[in-house]
Amino acid sequence: MEADHSTRIAITPLGSISVSGGLGERLERSRAHLVRLDTDDLRRELVEPDAAWHWGADYMGRWIGAMAYLGTLTDDLTQVHRVAKELISHQRPDGSFGSYGEDHDFQEWFGMGRGLVGLLDYHAVTADPDALAAACRLGDYYVEHYPEDGALQIEVNATALDGLVTLAVLTQEERYLDVARRVADSSMPMRRLWASTDFGYRGLRIPVAGAVHCHLLTGRGLLDLFEVTHEDRYLEAVLALYSHLMDQAISVNGAVGEFLMGAEESETCSDADWLRLNLQLWRVTDEARYLEMAEHVLLNAIFFDQTDTGAFTYRRGVQGRPGASFDACCSNHGPRAMVEAVSYAFAGPPDSLSVNLFLDARGQVVVDGSPVEIETTTRHDSDSHSLALRLTLGAGADRSFPVRLRVPEWAGSATALVNGSPAAHAETPGIVAVSRQWSVGDVVEIRFPTRVRVVRGQTIGRHLTDERAVAVFYGPQLFCLTERLNPEHRLDLLRLTLPGSEPESSVQVVAPDRLEVPGLGPDGAPLTLGLWPLSSTGGSPNGIGRTHPTKANYFKVWIPNGAVPALAVGPDRS
Ligand SMILES: [Zn+2]
Repeated sequence: MEADHSTRIAITPLGSISVSGGLGERLERSRAHLVRLDTDDLRRELVEPDAAWHWGADYMGRWIGAMAYLGTLTDDLTQVHRVAKELISHQRPDGSFGSYGEDHDFQEWFGMGRGLVGLLDYHAVTADPDALAAACRLGDYYVEHYPEDGALQIEVNATALDGLVTLAVLTQEERYLDVARRVADSSMPMRRLWASTDFGYRGLRIPVAGAVHCHLLTGRGLLDLFEVTHEDRYLEAVLALYSHLMDQAISVNGAVGEFLMGAEESETCSDADWLRLNLQLWRVTDEARYLEMAEHVLLNAIFFDQTDTGAFTYRRGVQGRPGASFDACCSNHGPRAMVEAVSYAFAGPPDSLSVNLFLDARGQVVVDGSPVEIETTTRHDSDSHSLALRLTLGAGADRSFPVRLRVPEWAGSATALVNGSPAAHAETPGIVAVSRQWSVGDVVEIRFPTRVRVVRGQTIGRHLTDERAVAVFYGPQLFCLTERLNPEHRLDLLRLTLPGSEPESSVQVVAPDRLEVPGLGPDGAPLTLGLWPLSSTGGSPNGIGRTHPTKANYFKVWIPNGAVPALAVGPDRS
């Protein structure tokens, strides 16, 4: 069996591209934070599990997976080698992980899924035979003991699916594919079950809690299984999950929520899987909308989810919820998804050089079977309202091939120049391509207009929840009202006065990361209000290791808008 990575789109292999700029800084901040997490908390659930925390191999599995990939950025894998050996040493004689209670409950089954994937991610980077052997023993435990059902949060059970499919492809052992099918066939997306209506243990909906991270982990596994088996029913289940999230869960920043019933509370793990699912769906279907969504989620959800310390959060929301860092899962799963995005930045048809995400990067892309050195730099210009990406071709470019540049929806059009001369223009989103005989040192530049876009009407999924509110985008980025730029006012008492027709014309672009909009203060006096990117939220958790409340400056994305003379004032109680 083989994963059919269709010939239409080839992914850039791991480690062949390094990034600097905004994403590079975020990856480094993530890695530095994960280095600091190598403490007692990382191993506590394997060593001394308790009633609240006994997710077994979850934390350490995620950590070694993320650190193996991030380690390729620095070529230093010493620490991850040590922790991977330690994880393997906790494997029980029957192949399972976790020692809380007589049997493994839903927490430990969930942890085994992430432990399996962590071992396989670590193996993908290092080719370590002990990690593969441990993954096989765990896979055999699934073959023998996989629970089709359960009383609590049964959507956690299927979260090993991506690991089991990977194991089947790696080993060519039919038994792993058979158990992957069993896991898939009993999974919630295959049954179209998203959340139960009964309540039980700790207020959870039972048996299906509606945990988005679990549904999306399973969804990614189902897509892997579709790529191996070509059975449409697996893809259909993924698309059913996709449309449910688009209809009822997604926020304006692309986040999909921790639980299906609480869209305002995010979880980085959900957003990370959502990013990866969109990238994979683009590769499988070649539909540009998935790549559009992936870019949106990366810039406005994943970046928003990250704190100043490098940790990633859950229970964060676009209306001013700073949430809490979640080091046991989100701080590992967030960077793992960012690494995946890098491998899609230059993915495309194998006979061409493609640019999908606009990053500062350098490295090697394979075109028609042989490598080409590339370097890209980006530059925002708020005077000309444009974003320019310069692609410099290096060694290996002395030949003829097409350079394909993505023209995103947020730009709407683009102009491509070769060595300073106009070479192609696109009036609509899609692809602009330049094909010619190239020379080493040639520079392709693509310029996009960065436009202001005002979204009218607050939504959850496709549903309007407040018609008076507006949100503001500039280029690909979602902006928010922040106390940092409006220190004299309480944000909840402010409103905007954007006109009903062409509201964008009243938004002033002061800098790529700063907008000014007309508004009203609490006393009804006209004001100029400052907005900055939602991704600048950051904030500081009050500790490291597990979950820690995070302080961030107050912010809000959805702002009431209306050219009314003053806010209504209640009765005078003085
Ligand atoms: Zn998480």
